[in-house]
Amino acid sequence: MSERMIAIMKTKPAYGAELVEVDVPKPGPGEVLIKVLATSICGTDLHIYEWNEWAQSRIKPPQIMGHEVAGEVVEVGPGVEGIEVGDYVSVETHIVCGKCYACRRGQYHVCQNTKIFGVDTDGVFAEYAVVPAQNVWKNPKSIPPEYATLQEPLGNAVDTVLAGPISGKSVLITGAGPLGLLGIAVAKASGAYPVIVSEPSEFRRNLAKKVGADYVINPFEEDVVKEVMDITDGNGVDVFLEFSGAPKALEQGLQAVTPAGRVSLLGLFPGKVSIDFNNLIIFKALTVYGITGRHLWETWYTVSRLLQSGKLNIDPIITHKYKGFDKYEEAFELMRAGKTGKVVFMLKD
Ligand SMILES: [Zn+2]
Ligand SMILES: [Zn+2]
Repeated sequence: MSERMIAIMKTKPAYGAELVEVDVPKPGPGEVLIKVLATSICGTDLHIYEWNEWAQSRIKPPQIMGHEVAGEVVEVGPGVEGIEVGDYVSVETHIVCGKCYACRRGQYHVCQNTKIFGVDTDGVFAEYAVVPAQNVWKNPKSIPPEYATLQEPLGNAVDTVLAGPISGKSVLITGAGPLGLLGIAVAKASGAYPVIVSEPSEFRRNLAKKVGADYVINPFEEDVVKEVMDITDGNGVDVFLEFSGAPKALEQGLQAVTPAGRVSLLGLFPGKVSIDFNNLIIFKALTVYGITGRHLWETWYTVSRLLQSGKLNIDPIITHKYKGFDKYEEAFELMRAGKTGKVVFMLKD
């Protein structure tokens, strides 16, 4: 194994990142070293790249970026049990404490002391990465690395879509960015019909159709609520899944969901949102779920099995596959411009 490696590093507290050569890290106690086979860009990585307000308050350069990964264990640190060299793995991003009130009730996804891998630690946009053993998830060999790296965001999509019954349910999805697209794939694989998608970008509406959306709506040109009512015989959808973080989309979705329907909210809003709670939630007797992180480890089992089932239509979502990190700037700029689904860097030789 070489001693040096290439990595995308946030070197300065400013826009962008640099491709650097650094030492291959050593796994400490409770850690493993993985050789990265595939890694994908998340919205979080883009925020760090752009150096937005959140990133400025949270990230401490220099730091290797990235957290979505499929890799192979090449070295095991002291005290690690149950993980061996050669294991094919992915990584849960939330490093939880196991001791707080939430953790002790099994609610690890809302651990009060959560640290985020690749945000509060060095990440996986590198040829090798050190990973906390407690966050390692073993993959079956049947899942190719370019799918296995998507399990972390797929987990968000699965928790959003499967927070309640979905088979045979009519669904409105607002926002067809990478997570919304994964949500469409999960909803279709789970037997939802019709799946209606509201998305202003034509590029993303076309992707939504390729993934399997039954109807797409341009909310800037069409009346979303009227379209949904027309499609559902005036009843509204059973399930409303919000991925966009746009206040207007939230309001339209709450209007378009049927009384006693279910709402899952994943998209993060830019600030406080004003909503008519009386008429849109209370009198409609809606069930509203806030979605964050992934249930450990139940969501990972679901994601892995959905991938193994072959029923998830993932290929159209992976719009860009790069060999190595050389074109990372192009990748980030395309993503910034909203011209991508998921972007994957392949490091498998
Ligand atoms: Zn992610
Ligand atoms: Zn905890």
